Amino acid sequence: MSHPEYQQKMFQEMEEKSIFEQARSYAYEYIDGIPEMPVFPSPENIKNLQAFDEPLNESSSTGREVLEKLHKWGTPATIAQIGGRYFGFVNGGAVPASLGVKWLADVWDQCGGLYLTSPINSKLEQVCEKWLVELLGLPQGTVAGFVSGTSMANLCGLAAGRFRILKNAGWDVNAKGLYGAPAVRIVAHEQIHASIKKTLSMLGFGIENIEWVPSDEQGRAIPEKIPELDSSCLLILQAGNVNTGGFDDFVNICDKANKAGAWIHIDGAFGLWAAASKSRSHLTRGIEKASSWSVDGHKTLNTPYDSGIVLCKDEEALVSAMQASGEYIIYSDYKDPLLYTPEMSKRSRAIELWATLKYLGKQGIDDMVTGFHMRAKQLEAGLSTMDLELLNEVVFNQVLVRARTEEITKNLVAAIQESGECWLAGTSWNGTAAIRISVCSWATTEADIEHTLDLIQSCLQEVAV
Ligand SMILES: *Cc1c(COP(=O)(O)O)cnc(C)c1O
Repeated sequence: MSHPEYQQKMFQEMEEKSIFEQARSYAYEYIDGIPEMPVFPSPENIKNLQAFDEPLNESSSTGREVLEKLHKWGTPATIAQIGGRYFGFVNGGAVPASLGVKWLADVWDQCGGLYLTSPINSKLEQVCEKWLVELLGLPQGTVAGFVSGTSMANLCGLAAGRFRILKNAGWDVNAKGLYGAPAVRIVAHEQIHASIKKTLSMLGFGIENIEWVPSDEQGRAIPEKIPELDSSCLLILQAGNVNTGGFDDFVNICDKANKAGAWIHIDGAFGLWAAASKSRSHLTRGIEKASSWSVDGHKTLNTPYDSGIVLCKDEEALVSAMQASGEYIIYSDYKDPLLYTPEMSKRSRAIELWATLKYLGKQGIDDMVTGFHMRAKQLEAGLSTMDLELLNEVVFNQVLVRARTEEITKNLVAAIQESGECWLAGTSWNGTAAIRISVCSWATTEADIEHTLDLIQSCLQEVAV
């Protein structure tokens, strides 16, 4: 049988598999090169990305050419995210099984929206939902939506809260929108993550309408400063402050909020995993009293990117908020993932999440989370011997520190970043420059921390003169 030329080429590449072999060999080279590669690309390698500034070719390329180009110019311009010395933001690594499974699942290319478009994804979403509820100690009946990250999970949780609060007030927000709706009070603390502000704007609430709760020196909401709540309140709390790693006092705050009939959403992007660790679970005590939660797979759990989860104990509220209708949608008796998320067609991301959970098991997750904390304590101990001021209680995986002056702090961050030996970010804390170090990769060893401490010490000597 003869096919048109474009199709012939693709059938041939699928049959020969040489492009997959090529990708595999680049990937192996990458994995083996990680310990030696600069954690952040050199200015020259970044400049070389100009190689991609070209007009789109008229005629087709071969798969080999495309991969070659990406490897040649793209690989040297990557961040060594899967290595042990990337401490920026709260970006996690990726455990080996999750990467392997992602490769396989990428070949499957499953559309994860419906049971009918991917029974395997639907099944694994159900399994992950059950495991997560158990691991995190959430109420039975809590449902999960699998989204791109915590920003999206926050959007879903807050949309569910918005739906429920207005429904209870006799207002169907899906049908009537927010014009003329009874007021919803948004109560959030000063140190809430930027993504919450983003989602509140998207939900039509407006940042200026937020009733701010002051936070303490560890970036936790001060329970006594929470205003009188009522059933029109959406209260937003945090498990893991991005700077300090601090956790709100859920036990006290949630009891009070529940009595008032408020909806409580907990942003636990990286911190919620403390619940899965015996040594750290005291930090999340009381989270089960909330109404909705968001958490990332791609941070503390070390799944590959594009893995966030919204958990909600009010299934009707979440599903109603994410309402989907259309005559062509065929629902099943099984879990139809699109009922729980904004997207319809979506990557079957529960597959990597399932793989990561299965691979680590309860003990492995506990060990990994505990390991982040231990490495963070090791950093704290080393930094405390230097001419630096520690700014946080290292309760989890975040270490916050600053030098004697603003200028030294900023120069120190720049010198460390330029070294290419590790990467950490500058931040602002109580109006002054600070350095934030996040231990969030399974691959970070004690030796990596030693190496990082030596580097910080020598950079400090250099910039502090
Ligand atoms: C990272 C983070 C977010 C945003 O999550 P994404 O996965 O980046 O969308 C929200 N809240 C906190 C506390 C975070 O650390």
